[in-house]
Amino acid sequence: MAEAKIRLFVDQPLGSGQAVGLNPDQAHYLFGVMRLGPGAALRLFNGQDGEWRATVAQAGKRGGVLTCVEQTRPQQMPPDLWLLFAPIKKARTDFIVEKAVELGAARIMPVQTQHTNADRIRQDRLQAHALEAAEQCEGTFVPPVDELQALDKVLATWPADRHLLWCNEHLTGAATVLSRQERGPWAILIGPEGGFSEREQARLAAMPQVVQASLGPRILRADTAAVAAITLWQAALGDWR
Ligand code: SAH
Repeated sequence: MAEAKIRLFVDQPLGSGQAVGLNPDQAHYLFGVMRLGPGAALRLFNGQDGEWRATVAQAGKRGGVLTCVEQTRPQQMPPDLWLLFAPIKKARTDFIVEKAVELGAARIMPVQTQHTNADRIRQDRLQAHALEAAEQCEGTFVPPVDELQALDKVLATWPADRHLLWCNEHLTGAATVLSRQERGPWAILIGPEGGFSEREQARLAAMPQVVQASLGPRILRADTAAVAAITLWQAALGDWR
């Protein structure tokens, strides 16, 4: 049986011979939409046990059972990189979440800043977006998407050992050369369309964990900045080397 190109996230343990029960939505997708039948092969991952080839043991309208056969990809965790970003318009926020998964963020933290125009996000929808991005990019890890939190609150309890790369469009003077920075726990902070307030800039500049970065002489949209910053960081300190 030609291996199906289907990759499905399941929130269940995976292992040799492990039976995996399907909920109605998954059954509808596999058996209704993708027309898989008993014996058909597909790939499963759950964010912890790597990727497994599985075959259809039982196919039903509202449920079914898969059997794990062999591990096809070891669990690969992304580097310890958090992305903090101020939500912008829905489609662009979806884009930021999707790119953060593809580019290898370990945690996605929407933060509310003084000039953020969105006062709420749909965390469940963004988490589903992250899951779809992981399925598509052949990742075995799905980064958690946090609920929207106030930036001030996040900074007030910022871990002493985690660097924070503040993408500062007002940066004057030499930009930080990331390749000279140490590896380890990091985070990237991207501001809203309105930029960071004076108070936020002063607070960030005073934090010992903060490293400032320029993303070039042009003002980037927040979604462009998120992609550019993660790329910069990954190439210098992440798992792209
Ligand atoms: N208030 C700004 C626009 C903010 S862009 C203005 O109109 O002047 C949104 C966010 O993207 C910024 O807060 C910053 O985190 C990031 N960003 C955009 N361009 C950047 C650049 N050239 N260098 C560093 N960060 C940048």
